[in-house]
This record gives sequence, C-alpha cells and structure tokens, in this order.
Amino acid sequence: MLGSTQGKPMIPAIFKRTLSGVAISSVILISGLVHAKQQEAIVVGAGLAGLTAAYELEQRGYDVIILEARDVVGGRMGTLDMGDQHGETGGELLDSKKVHTEMFRYAKKFKVEMVDVGYWENGIEEGAYFIDGKLVPYGDFKSEFGRPVKREMDRFWNAVEDLALLVPDHTRPDLAPDAQVLDQMNMQDWIDDLNLDPIAKTLAEHHVRAEYDEPHDVSVLWMAHQSKVYENVGDNKIEVVRFMDGGRAFAQAYVDHIDGPVYLNHAVTKIRQNEKGVVVTAAGHKFKADVAVVTVPLTVLNKITFKPALPADKQAAADNLNYGSHTKVLIEYSKRFWLDLNVGGDTVSDLPIGWTWESTERQTDTTGGILIAYSSGDFTDNQINWSDAALIVDKVAQIEIMYPGSAKYFESASVHAWHREEWIMGGFLAYGPGQVTQHWNAFLEPAGKIYFAGEHTDDAYVGYLEGAVRSGMRVATQIAGE
Ligand SMILES: Cc1cc2nc3c(=O)[nH]c(=O)nc-3n(C[C@H](O)[C@H](O)[C@H](O)COP(=O)(O)OP(=O)(O)OC[C@H]3O[C@@H](n4cnc5c(N)ncnc54)[C@H](O)[C@@H]3O)c2cc1C
Repeated sequence: MLGSTQGKPMIPAIFKRTLSGVAISSVILISGLVHAKQQEAIVVGAGLAGLTAAYELEQRGYDVIILEARDVVGGRMGTLDMGDQHGETGGELLDSKKVHTEMFRYAKKFKVEMVDVGYWENGIEEGAYFIDGKLVPYGDFKSEFGRPVKREMDRFWNAVEDLALLVPDHTRPDLAPDAQVLDQMNMQDWIDDLNLDPIAKTLAEHHVRAEYDEPHDVSVLWMAHQSKVYENVGDNKIEVVRFMDGGRAFAQAYVDHIDGPVYLNHAVTKIRQNEKGVVVTAAGHKFKADVAVVTVPLTVLNKITFKPALPADKQAAADNLNYGSHTKVLIEYSKRFWLDLNVGGDTVSDLPIGWTWESTERQTDTTGGILIAYSSGDFTDNQINWSDAALIVDKVAQIEIMYPGSAKYFESASVHAWHREEWIMGGFLAYGPGQVTQHWNAFLEPAGKIYFAGEHTDDAYVGYLEGAVRSGMRVATQIAGE
C-alpha cells in the first residue's frame, strides 16, 4: 500500500498520544464525544489544503482539530527514503516565486529550504527526447528532427498559447463567450485538427497527458483556462524548484506551527449538521464543532455520509468530475548514468513510460540518484491491475531501452499509483468535456456549516500544490467572514 511505503512518517509525539487514545490539549473527551472549546473547526484531510486551512483558522482564533484517514500527513505530497537519498512520491515541482506565490510565502514563513532543480550551473543539458528509438538531447531537437518538425512544435505551442485569448477571466471560464462549444470539445480532437507532423503530434499528446489526463478526457475549455492562468509565464519559470528535504519537511513545518491535534488513521465516515453545528464521525469517535472543512479528493468524497445529504449540484460535481491518473515509480540507481551523456535525468519518451526525471540533483553525497518514471492517462490506467513488482520490471526495462546498460545500476524501486490509493483514488482534477460549464465553482460556497477546500476547489492552480494551499487560505477567510 502506498501509505506504508511513504518512508519515515514524521509524526510528532502528540500524534502518538492521540493514537493511543489519550485526550489532548484543546479537546475534552466527554462520554466518547470529543468537544472543541470556543470557536471550533474540524478539518477533514491533512494534505496541504487541510493543513493550510487549520493553520489559518488558528491564526483567526479558532480551536482546530484535523482528522486524517492515512498514517501520514501531506496527502498527495510525500517523500520516500531510498538508501542515503530521498525522492518525491507525489506533488514535487514548483513554479517560480512569482507564480506559486503562496507556496513560497509559507516556505519562507516556516523556514523550509527550497532548491533549484536541474544541473544548469554545470552546463549539463536538462534532458532528452527518446523518439523513434533515438535519444536526442533537448538542444539537438532541430538539428536531429529537422526544421519543419521544430516549426510544427512551435505551431502547437502557439496554438496552446492562443487558447488563453478565449477565456477573458480565468476565475470564470464558464462565462467565456464560446464556453459551451469549447467545453464540448476534447483535446484529442483539437490536436487531431491541428494536423501536426507525427513527432509533434506525439509530443503534443504527451504534454496534455502528463499535465492533465488522456487528451480525449480533457475539455478544450479547461485547457484554455490553464493557458490563461499561465499567460505571460515563461518556460524558465515553470517547474524550477523543489524542497531540499522533501515535501514531507514542508508538511511537517505546518504541523509544527499548528497547536491543535492531528489525528492520523481517523477516516471520517459521517458528517451530520444541524443549526448548532457539526458532528463528525471518525474511527468510532464523534467530534463536535461549529464548522467542518472537507478537503478530501472528490474521488473519495462518497466514503463520507452527509446528513442531510449534500446539495444536488455538489453531489453531481463529485460524481462526475474527471481526475487524471498519474503514477510515479521511484527508481534508485547506484550511478547517475544519464550524466555520462551530459544530460540531466529528464526524458520525454514515446514509450509508454512517458517521462523520467531525477529527483536528487542537490543530494550529491552519493554517485547514485533517484530517477522518477512518471506515467499518466491511458499509459497508467492500462496497468491498473499490475502488481508493483511487474510495474517496476516494466519501467526499468523501458529505461534500459532508452539508456542501454542502465539496468545494471538498479538498486531498488517503489510504486506510487495514486489512482489506486484507498484515500485518494486519482491523480488530480482535470476537467473533462462538458464539465467546466456544468460544475465550475461547485464547491466554492459551503453546504450550511460544511466548507470545502482542496486543489479541486481553486479557481487558478487546480491540480497543483499551490492550488491546495490557496484553497486552504480561501476557506479560512470564508469561515471567519472576512
Ligand atoms: C503523481 C503526482 C504528481 C504531482 N506533481 C505535482 C507537482 O510536481 N507540482 C504540483 O504543484 N502539484 C503536483 N501534484 C498535485 C498535488 O500533489 C496536489 O494538487 C495537492 O497535493 C493536493 O492537495 P490537497 O490538500 O488538495 O489534497 P490531498 O493532498 O489529497 O489531501 C487530502 C487528504 O484527505 C485525506 N482523506 C481522504 N478521505 C478522507 C476521509 N474520509 N477522512 C479523513 N481524511 C481523508 C487523504 O488521505 C489526504 O491526506 C501531483 C500529484 C500527483 C498525484
């Protein structure tokens, strides 16, 4: 199970006391019913949205408890120790501080170190394409595949950029002039209509698959929204930074700054509300508060029974919204064989492995490194029933095809298929055809005393760590009536 391979869970003593059933600081145990004092909030889920909401609510004077189903905080952001190094199992890469502003702000506030990705300071090429059986460093694309193919790629990127013009306001893509028409179209048809050269077409499909989901499952209006959000953001500002000590250090920093308890292994099964407040059931206990903040992915929202039932528009959105599938296999190699070719570990491949990159450039104590094999969309959905062992053999074999001789440096590997993790069941939200116009902002307003946060509720950075954090900030201001 993914939760048990997350490496060393960073659980402060308070969690251990909580787990062994001892009452803790800000809650009082009365006949099995746990009451919070003064203004009280219960946060469901200890991913970045939940942790941010809890932190911000405490800043506003609320007593907060967090209930988390898994045995680790951080949600879809996690870190795994492999040998002397560590790699990222979920959300990893951040855009520059002008883009992912809130991630940078909290990292600074909590003093969590961020580092640049890549080997640019050593003059090493960032990565390579592996197409039609050839490994070609990024910089040699034009000379290897020819000027016409390069022009075709430029045509694709220009068309993606132009999509931004169709969405005047990124906070309301559903109100764009041609919203209905664009939303009915899917990205596969859109790419087909561009009549790209085959290599450019493969790379275009790969881009959509990796960033969102299989192109036929992605709405063109959704893609236009994303283009609008990223309008005027240069390539050199995208996916440029990660946490030096892993995402778990960032999640732990939140926990260190939150006074209330975090109950791990407390899956919420029921939330009842009336005019007095909410009663939340988890792990056989009932927790009472004024409000609840639900941050769980929509893919697992149906594991919670709401009394009364959720409003119809929210239930429909939860039932229908599309999540992309994304799997990371972390592979520890005893040698960074890619550096022998003067390329970083990035590979964009036409093999079903999809993408690779190195997660350990700044961890220079050893000659080895952790390479991430990242597969998305159909490439990973088609392997949904494969065992972890079979997935590892498959990824290592594909890397051997791209980098002959690499398999002999294999040390160990670990699979993180989030769409089959019990409390996640998906990668991240990627609006499918027809879904932006139907479900936009479905979780922006509360259902009575139940508020919603999570990457899926943001109006800009949906599917990003930044979106999760922003949603946690937004929900705290909503609850506080600011
Ligand atoms: C493979 C992969 C790669 C990614 N790469 C990047 C990247 O490079 N950069 C980036 O910005 N973003 C990336 N993301 C996206 C990013 O990780 C997410 O957007 C973000 O972590 C979501 O945070 P969240 O708090 O909304 O949800 P989550 O992190 O999913 O938190 C929700 C929490 O709720 C818990 N939960 C579920 N049900 C219950 C229940 N009934 N009771 C109690 N708790 C429950 C879950 O266990 C989980 O801990 C990636 C995601 C994946 C899957």
